Order: sequence, then C-alpha cells, then structure tokens
Amino acid sequence: MKHVKITCPYCGSKALLRPAKAVRSGAESDEKVYVCARYPVCDAYVAAHRENGLPMGTLADRPLRRKRQEAHRALSRFWECGYMSRKEAYRWLQIQLGLPEAETHIGHFSEYRCEQVIRLCGHFLGAQPQAA
Ligand SMILES: [Zn+2]
Repeated sequence: MKHVKITCPYCGSKALLRPAKAVRSGAESDEKVYVCARYPVCDAYVAAHRENGLPMGTLADRPLRRKRQEAHRALSRFWECGYMSRKEAYRWLQIQLGLPEAETHIGHFSEYRCEQVIRLCGHFLGAQPQAA
C-alpha cells in the first residue's frame, strides 16, 4: 500500500488514509479513504483504490461528492444502455470537454465540470432513438 501525501483543498490540513467506515458506516472493512485530518469539522474525503491505496481523485466535500456521483451516473448510462463501451464513453467525454486523457477523471472534476458532464450526457442521451 502506498501512502501519498495529500492535503485538503478546503482547509489545507493533511489528509489521512483511514478505513472507509470512519466516514461511511456501510463501507466494507477493506475499503479505505483519504480523509481530512479535521474531519468531521471539515467534511472532505475521497476513496482510495483497493489495489494500490492511491486516491481516486481529489478530496471532496458533500456537495462536490454528490455532483461527482451524479456525473458518474449520467455517464454510466452510456454503457448500461449499450450506446458505447465504458472506454468509448470516456473517450467521448474527453473529446467533448477538450481534455487530455490523463485529466478525464470525474474524481478530479470540480462542481462546474460535473455540471458540464451531466449536461453533455443529457444531450447525448436525449438525442438517441428510444428503445421500443
Ligand atoms: Zn479539510
């Protein structure tokens, strides 16, 4: 497990790698999160990858976590509904946003970017012929 040094973008405190149960009681015992040292005063955290312990993005407060989840849900409809593969959907998003591949991760997006994703996905899905 790698421990990376990251700081909270909201308050500048250190982020600590802790069991996800510390922030989400329903989390599984092997799940980990990077959480602001001032939690819960500062409500910012981000999940860590199980395989390597690296953060999945930047620390996010509740409104930003919600937006990222919403953006993920919007994009995942692309492959859940069979319009494209997951890989193609991320490639599509990358082109729409004009971002390099390495930066096209919803876990790194701001609320503004998430809104853009949700809007773009809505336009795409709205333009598809409805399944009979
Ligand atoms: Zn903080």
